[in-house]
Amino acid sequence: MNVSDSERISTTLARDGFEMTADEMAADVVIINTCSVREKAEHKLYSRVGRLRKKAAKNMPVVGVMGCVAQLEGETLFEKIEGVNFVLGTRAVGRVSAAINETFQTGKNILDVGEREDNYDWTVADTHRHSPYVAFLPIIEGCNKFCTYCIVPFSRGRERSFEAAEVIRQVCDLKEKGVREVHLIGQNVNSYKPQTDSGLAGFTGKSAFSRLLRAVAATGIERIKFTTSFPRDFNSDIVETIEEYENLCNWVHLPIQSGSNRVLAAMKRGHTIEKYFEKIDRLRSSSREIALTTDIIVGFPGETEADFQDSVRMVEYCGFDMAYIFKYSPRPGTPAFEMADDVSEAEKTLRFLELENVQKRIQNNRLQRYLNKVLKVLVESRSSRTHNGLTGHSTCHKVVNFEGPEQLLGKIVDVKINEIKANSLFGKLN
Ligand code: SAM
Ligand code: SF4
Repeated sequence: MNVSDSERISTTLARDGFEMTADEMAADVVIINTCSVREKAEHKLYSRVGRLRKKAAKNMPVVGVMGCVAQLEGETLFEKIEGVNFVLGTRAVGRVSAAINETFQTGKNILDVGEREDNYDWTVADTHRHSPYVAFLPIIEGCNKFCTYCIVPFSRGRERSFEAAEVIRQVCDLKEKGVREVHLIGQNVNSYKPQTDSGLAGFTGKSAFSRLLRAVAATGIERIKFTTSFPRDFNSDIVETIEEYENLCNWVHLPIQSGSNRVLAAMKRGHTIEKYFEKIDRLRSSSREIALTTDIIVGFPGETEADFQDSVRMVEYCGFDMAYIFKYSPRPGTPAFEMADDVSEAEKTLRFLELENVQKRIQNNRLQRYLNKVLKVLVESRSSRTHNGLTGHSTCHKVVNFEGPEQLLGKIVDVKINEIKANSLFGKLN
């Protein structure tokens, strides 16, 4: 999500005549795009501006803070961090150039945490995508779920789905420009609910999201991935749609957060562990070999050793290909912030390490199924890991490294896997 936001910030700036540089000391303006999901990410902003101030000495550039921390902290950032000139919230991306110009003209601090313009243009210029072959396409913004630990509904506002006709228009446009893989993104893509049926007519499905998947698949773009899916709204129709269309990739990211029903209820996730397992069983019984990844939090307020062991058992049962594990981080303004943060930091670390070890072991076992298999890989860039190395992602969203000529960049090739590493696969062109 943050990469996608950064792509749109640089698209807007380039459109308005600004030139990008990777050298912050040569820049007139430095923009820091922030995330506030965990406290660590927020601390990074404070030290980042501090380091910049030290390095720049007298020639301090104009500094802008954007993203979630900007949205939540607003004006207070000017007091908290010396050297910040403008603060723009998550929905003010389209007004970044105006804020810079105003800063230069008036020398005053600029604050904009307002709503998005009705005619906001979501297009990302080809030159500002992180890859010429892969594009992120937001289909829904914001979140209405209010999981008790999470700051996102406050930093990103309420859910708003984009009209399917516009999503499809953008997919067709990207396809024409040579993009091979599109990622439909949003905090909860499967909560997709556009205001009209425009673009969905003729596409069946039990939810607007599965209808959208069918409509996007019908454009014929080569690969479609989507993230993140919310477990409560993840119905079997989504799996059926994947089974129907080859270009819907075989990867689902379905964050579970905890293996304990007691903790899931305190988190207000809206589903039980039994319901989650039903969804896992459906995914596992699919005719497609679907890779499954997740997010898990350890040390949520009130999480006992027994609750934690439920998470360990859950990880054993699900056999995730990969899991992001986080230590609970209290976020001011969320309901969980009012609960006693009663799992000590040391205990959180112990649980994190134990769960990480279990996941590593399971992951290693699970990934063995790819050994000697031929995977279709989109060649995205040169890899520094080997001489003549190329790297890309499989349809199951694994990083795959192999050797080959540069001319393969942007192509989808067959790679036979001969080595499994912790977070990536190695192979040979087939
Ligand atoms: N919408 C997605 C969902 O519900 O599954 C997740 C979006 S959130 C930006 C990404 C992940 O950050 C969450 O799945 C959760 O594991 C983690 N997270 C969010 N708030 C957190 C907190 N206060 N402490 C630790 N981890 C947190
Ligand atoms: Fe946060 Fe829950 Fe919304 Fe995901 S669904 S963004 S975890 S509130």
